[in-house]
Amino acid sequence: MTVTADQDWQNNLDEVQYQVARKGATEPPFSGKYWDHKETGCYLCLCCQAPLFRSETKYDSGSGWPSFYDVFARDSITIRRDQSHAMIRDELLCAGCDAHLGHLFTDGPAPTGLRYCINSAALDFSRDQA
Ligand SMILES: [Zn+2]
Repeated sequence: MTVTADQDWQNNLDEVQYQVARKGATEPPFSGKYWDHKETGCYLCLCCQAPLFRSETKYDSGSGWPSFYDVFARDSITIRRDQSHAMIRDELLCAGCDAHLGHLFTDGPAPTGLRYCINSAALDFSRDQA
C-alpha cells in the first residue's frame, strides 16, 4: 500500500480526526457522531476505508464512545500495548494504515467479554443497502 505522509493526513482530515487517528488522541466522551448511532451497517476506518466493525456488535457501554464487543475480521485490527498516561492499556490500530482507533478493555458483554472502545473521529460508516 502507499504510505501517506503526515502532511497529507493533516490536509485531508479535520483537526479532531487528525489528532485522534494519526496522533493517538482521544475525543471527549459523548462528543463524537457515532457513540449513539444505531443504523445497520459497517463501521470503516476513516483513513483507509477498511471495514472494522459491524453494527450488530455495537452496544451501549455508557462510556460515551462507540463500543463494540467484536471486530469485523480478526486481521483488521492490530493491538499494541500502550503505557502512556501511567496506565497499561491495549491500543487498537487499523491493521491497514496504523490509524489509532481506541483501546481494548475486558469489561464487555458476552460472548467475547471484550469492549472495543473506539473514537467516532477515527470511523466512517457505510449503511447497509435495503
Ligand atoms: Zn485504516
